[in-house]
Amino acid sequence: MATYAYRCPDCGTFDETRPMGEAPERVACPRCAASSPRQWTAPLLAQMDPALRSALAREEKSKDAPEVVTRASGTTRR
Ligand SMILES: [Zn+2]
Repeated sequence: MATYAYRCPDCGTFDETRPMGEAPERVACPRCAASSPRQWTAPLLAQMDPALRSALAREEKSKDAPEVVTRASGTTRR
């Protein structure tokens, strides 16, 4: 089974669990039964590798708070 995201025009996004590869283009909204198209973007974010996600977060932090440079380069030539 796999979880697919759909978006109801009135209620917003919801998930549907279906056998892999058997998700229809549209399903009825569980709340108002409106025909809701399938979403393609959300599952990619959910499946992002946690290690990659934390590496990206660390890189972002080092841009704001660099801890390596203590003096200007070029002052201590050997
Ligand atoms: Zn709805």
